[in-house]
Amino acid sequence: MTKHYQVVGNPIAQSKSPFIHAEFAKQTQQVISYQRACPEVDGFAIEAQRFFGSGGLGMNVTAPFKLDAYNFADSLTPRATLAGAVNTLALQDDGSILGDNTDGYGLVTDITQQLGWTLKGKNILVLGAGGAVRGVLQLLLEQRPAQLVLANRTLAKAEALASVFTHLGPLEVVEFAALPAFPAGHFDLIINATSASLAGDLPPLPEALIAPETHCYDMTYGAQPTVFLRWAESLGAGVRADGLGMLVGQAAESFRLWHGVMPEVKPVMAALRQHLKA
Ligand code: NDP
Repeated sequence: MTKHYQVVGNPIAQSKSPFIHAEFAKQTQQVISYQRACPEVDGFAIEAQRFFGSGGLGMNVTAPFKLDAYNFADSLTPRATLAGAVNTLALQDDGSILGDNTDGYGLVTDITQQLGWTLKGKNILVLGAGGAVRGVLQLLLEQRPAQLVLANRTLAKAEALASVFTHLGPLEVVEFAALPAFPAGHFDLIINATSASLAGDLPPLPEALIAPETHCYDMTYGAQPTVFLRWAESLGAGVRADGLGMLVGQAAESFRLWHGVMPEVKPVMAALRQHLKA
């Protein structure tokens, strides 16, 4: 019997989740339907009630609804509780809805397992303090970096976000204007989690951030390298990756939550890369 899932966001036409989950389902012989839904920005709860009321089993949630999904869930995993945001809803046997956040899992497994980069003991700079960063800070800090610096255009937003996570590790917050004060090449890893990439923009970053061994990761992904990754390359950063692996990784963890089986991400990453280029 077909099992029903969907991804909800506004806008949603760009979402690759239906493609990814169809690939996972093929790989694990699940018979699923996975659709897109795009309610009005104040219409998440009505859509979620409709979906689960009509037999839906699981839902992925993207911008701007991750807080709505957090509020909609009857119970939360510890990582969703700390993140204050939910990207996965799952119907439970007792009819209740569980909320989880798999973004941090997706990012950290992509970096440590797919890319083979080390986080432990490293100096990490995260650019941005939006919903995506909220979902990944716990898992990044659990990798025990030497330092995690959060830089955001709006300082107050980064400070409010960091206050939730400071007990987990060495987390500090700065404005972009303070970045030149760090020694050249200080950061081992820079993660761009701003949405500037979507608009083809680059946050105001000093060139001295980049050394040949600086690892550069952009959560945004596309057929072409992002502005941030092209900027890093132009300054000689030898190790770079976009967020396609994070996307597939967070989807895999949602899939595991719903179906009890962890799909293989590598072949799906390759298929999605081809799909983006087509
Ligand atoms: P939000 O809208 O919640 O946050 C956006 C962030 O970007 C804020 O910190 C904002 O700063 C900053 N920002 C936006 N424009 C600029 C700019 N021109 N210069 C500097 N900073 C800027 O978005 P999300 O956190 O949900 O998503 C961020 C990015 O990560 C998006 O591109 C999204 O596609 C990607 N993403 C990728 C995922 C994946 O699986 N690969 C998963 C989730 C997100 P301020 O606070 O000052 O407004």
